[in-house]
Amino acid sequence: MGVAVLSGDGIGPEVTAAAVRVLRELAPDVELEEHPFGAQAIRDVGTPLPDETLAACLAADAVLKGPIGDPEFDAADVRPEQGLLRLRAELGVYANLRPARADGIDLLIVRELVGGLYYGARGVRDDGTVFDTCEYTPAQVERIVRRGFELARARHGRLTSVDKANVLETSRLWRRVVREVAADYPDVAVEDMLVDNAAMQLASAPGQFDVVVTENMFGDILSDLAAAVTGGLGLAPSASLGDEGPGLFEPVHGSAPDIAGRGTANPAAMLLSVALLLEHGLGRSSEAAALDAAVRRATEDAPTADLGGTATTDRFTDTVIGHFNLTSA
Ligand code: NAD
Repeated sequence: MGVAVLSGDGIGPEVTAAAVRVLRELAPDVELEEHPFGAQAIRDVGTPLPDETLAACLAADAVLKGPIGDPEFDAADVRPEQGLLRLRAELGVYANLRPARADGIDLLIVRELVGGLYYGARGVRDDGTVFDTCEYTPAQVERIVRRGFELARARHGRLTSVDKANVLETSRLWRRVVREVAADYPDVAVEDMLVDNAAMQLASAPGQFDVVVTENMFGDILSDLAAAVTGGLGLAPSASLGDEGPGLFEPVHGSAPDIAGRGTANPAAMLLSVALLLEHGLGRSSEAAALDAAVRRATEDAPTADLGGTATTDRFTDTVIGHFNLTSA
């Protein structure tokens, strides 16, 4: 088994070093190969996603990615983020999984990642009107909805489908597809919820949710809200999956240039992304569960500065590894 490791920019190399340490401890048989990506790759070879890096990612069992982004390239023609969009497209990852957990909350947002408003036709008309369009094909909706049902079946058997069917045509299509696919999953309890209500419910009673499936923009916004009510960016991991081929596993946060190089970054989101990689990328559920539990304990025993503590990245990682060794001893 092989994992392509892209350590990224800013705090990326720091949190990726923590991830590599933990993976070597937990799954020593997994081969890890680092490849240039992001701002550093632009400096070295002029492109954020060199051909060799793309080929290695496509050939791997999973891709582990640190955050990318550097203020130096904010206004440049060639930017690190272009490499990330291309990598997602090349890997064909259309399902973005964003788990959010805290006391009494254990939910998973499944966001459609490659359709809708962010990918539709856009432009400026002669009269100065600016437009973005939201389009979905039935096939695009079906594959993400089916993924939502599968994940709900593997968890607690409840699926909330979020849309705006009282206003949007694409949402009415979404609802029809949910109805049709539901017939194949009689064991999953499914409900429709309008997105405005979903936002209110996520903020006021997040414990009610199991799996939430929704389209691209609604998922973008709701998953950040879910992260905010369960501890913030430092704890938010993600997995992006296609139907076949390697998935992409990365923390939700960015490269945090304001704290880069100090050894104080919280590696928890990256380590929880490693847990998702073990589970969804390599099919190693028991190691995934052990890592997930160890990270959650470490956030209490050795919190980093963003969580109100004083632990460094290394100390947090030592604590995670210590907990894991205790659990498996
Ligand atoms: P950011 O997530 O990097 O930082 C926001 C704030 O959260 C900062 O104060 C930062 O110090 C803090 N923070 C973030 N992660 C942390 C961690 N693990 N531990 C402790 N504190 C943490 O967002 P930003 O400042 O808006 O963006 C910085 C760069 O990251 C930009 O270039 C942006 O484009 C890029 N970015 C990349 C990704 C990605 O690679 N998927 C995602 C978001 C932003």
